Amino acid sequence: MDVIGRFAPTPSGRMHLGNVLAALLAWLDVRSSGGELVLRIEDLDTQRTSREFALQLMDDLRWLGLDWDRGGLRPEYMQSRRTAYYEEAFRCLEEKGLIYPCYCSRSERMAASAPHRDDGAVVYSGRCFQLTAAEREALERQGRRPAWRVRCPDLSVTVEDGSCGTYMENLARDCGDFIVRRSDRVFAYQLAVVVDDALMGVNHVVRGRDLLCSAPRQAWLHEVLGYAPPKFFHTPLLLAEDGRRLAKRDRDLDMEILRMRYAPEELTGLLAWYAGLLDRPEKVTVQELVGQFSWAKVPKNDVVVGCA
Ligand code: GLU
Repeated sequence: MDVIGRFAPTPSGRMHLGNVLAALLAWLDVRSSGGELVLRIEDLDTQRTSREFALQLMDDLRWLGLDWDRGGLRPEYMQSRRTAYYEEAFRCLEEKGLIYPCYCSRSERMAASAPHRDDGAVVYSGRCFQLTAAEREALERQGRRPAWRVRCPDLSVTVEDGSCGTYMENLARDCGDFIVRRSDRVFAYQLAVVVDDALMGVNHVVRGRDLLCSAPRQAWLHEVLGYAPPKFFHTPLLLAEDGRRLAKRDRDLDMEILRMRYAPEELTGLLAWYAGLLDRPEKVTVQELVGQFSWAKVPKNDVVVGCA
């Protein structure tokens, strides 16, 4: 089967080094296997994202030499324009009796949550699942607008990640019922990403390791919705010297600054070195990396980059 990969950025700011590393590895994964790359714009949250950031992001990818075969700012590849597909999947989950309204505010959610997971996320206790119809009506009358959660079974889901190996979660214990539609009616990332990957034919998901813990619930949602789950490859995170993960707020490592500081081949060389594809950082084009790309070379641990 041909590889269909994707890069699925959220256009809420300029890409930073970590985003670019994930993009490079998604591109190499596809180009080294003669597959097809989709660029999907994850602009579900229209308050936080913009067309300008999406344009900027595409310009930054092209500057590095990273191209894509379909997607970009065409409406069918922008999440903000794909609500009808998410509605359909949501209805399908509803018909299976898996959806329930959750009226908890953020603070109530925290209080109603099981102990924190290792990564700091909280496991929802399922409190609103217990509400009777009368209790729901009373809350509605108070003007409370619910978010919508999917009920997770007591099921262990194992993901064989192509980069970091076996990862397992018990959905009820480690993940908990998660939100698939927010109280402002915007669909949540977890639902949208599954629907999009499935309908766009994506079979290789390459992205940062911060999303590894989303893989079991996404694999499960694929199954429940009748799709074949993709193969996952979670890429190393880039850490600052103090162990923090690089984020969009690290302005000195965002593409605006990086483009001033480096030529495309220099930045590619640096990223390829972080990714275990070169022994030392030296100038290289993305095309030159295609022949030597292998997931076996990519580190299984996060990479401390210090001052790039
Ligand atoms: N849109 C997400 C981000 O920019 C990535 C989602 C994914 O790759 O599944 O962080």
